[in-house]
Amino acid sequence: MSDRRSFLKTAGALVAGAALLKPSRLFAARAEGGVSQTSGSFSSKGAFALSWKPFTGQLKYSFSISTNTRSSTPIILTQLRWQGLVGYGEASMPPYLGESQASVDAFLQRVVAEVLPRFDDPFRMEDILSEVDRLAPGNCAAKASVDIALHDLCGKIMGQPWWKIWGFDAADTPCTSYTIGWDASDDIVREKTHEASWAKVLKVKLGRGDYEDKRMITLIREINPDTPIYIDANQGWKNKRYVLDMIHWLKERGIVMIEQPMSKTDLDGHAWLTERSPLPIIADEACQRLVDIPALKGAYHGINIKLMKCTGMREAREMVSLAQALDLKLMMGCMTETSVAISAAAQLAPKMQWADLDGNVLLSNDCFTGMKLVEGKITLNDLPGLGVSPI
Ligand SMILES: [Mg+2]
Repeated sequence: MSDRRSFLKTAGALVAGAALLKPSRLFAARAEGGVSQTSGSFSSKGAFALSWKPFTGQLKYSFSISTNTRSSTPIILTQLRWQGLVGYGEASMPPYLGESQASVDAFLQRVVAEVLPRFDDPFRMEDILSEVDRLAPGNCAAKASVDIALHDLCGKIMGQPWWKIWGFDAADTPCTSYTIGWDASDDIVREKTHEASWAKVLKVKLGRGDYEDKRMITLIREINPDTPIYIDANQGWKNKRYVLDMIHWLKERGIVMIEQPMSKTDLDGHAWLTERSPLPIIADEACQRLVDIPALKGAYHGINIKLMKCTGMREAREMVSLAQALDLKLMMGCMTETSVAISAAAQLAPKMQWADLDGNVLLSNDCFTGMKLVEGKITLNDLPGLGVSPI
């Protein structure tokens, strides 16, 4: 055992040493197939070596919500090395949330300079991640990219997946929804609906006005009359009485849940709606982090947790406990992410009433394997950490 440990230590030191000599080329040398290599950064001080590189997630279809449209998502993929083991992490930055590859790069440089040198034991996760969080406000996706990599690393050291370390039953996972974004073309909406025939639940983005919203639902229901649908209005609806009427219209068409119908700042409006709505009302934009949850009790039926909003798995696990204590229902969501962040989020899926973990399925260039969907159901593997591997 000690021989193996010293070998791992030596190997880690060699990797770190090589990195200091040729920082931009190391990631390419260490890249494990399939991941495009445009540039990268590598920094090492002390026991940990953190490396990262930009990656552009290409969407199969351009993706529209009530406020914008895009065809790709900027991502940073991270690797945290310790004694020859590697943990994988990820930051996904849809532009409307204010982070970018440049801001994540700058934040990770600070993690390397100011946090990692003070630790040599990955199991000091609480202290490490608290220090990372204290570096600067915001930067939630950047923080998640460290948190996820550290969880993967510690899971690998323990030899167990996180769903098992947390004591969950993998059989309890829900099916994921599969998102059909708004499109001006009826034919594209029909094509997307046909392509989604495997999904046990659909999610539809609304909030573009009465005509467009009803056109989307009518088109989808012509092709698929029965599959349950979640609605995400992304704050696009303005008037609570209109929203209540719309929810009744939607309920008659097999819609089962409504995500963030109105502005995240309209707590009173959502409380009025939640009291009267025949369908559950879920906070997404209104619920970023743990500290947001108490105020949402009474205004929503539940919350949507996303790793990129809440800084990662550590805080997401705390949000689950707090929401349960407040009798709020739970949904796990995602950005467009590779199988790294999706598999990280999926570790919490056994505690979710609803899941929207289709970010990797929406990508045409996912560069990892991990959690699988089996007939739409989130299916966790027994591999340690996140259970992910580069393709
Ligand atoms: Mg949402």
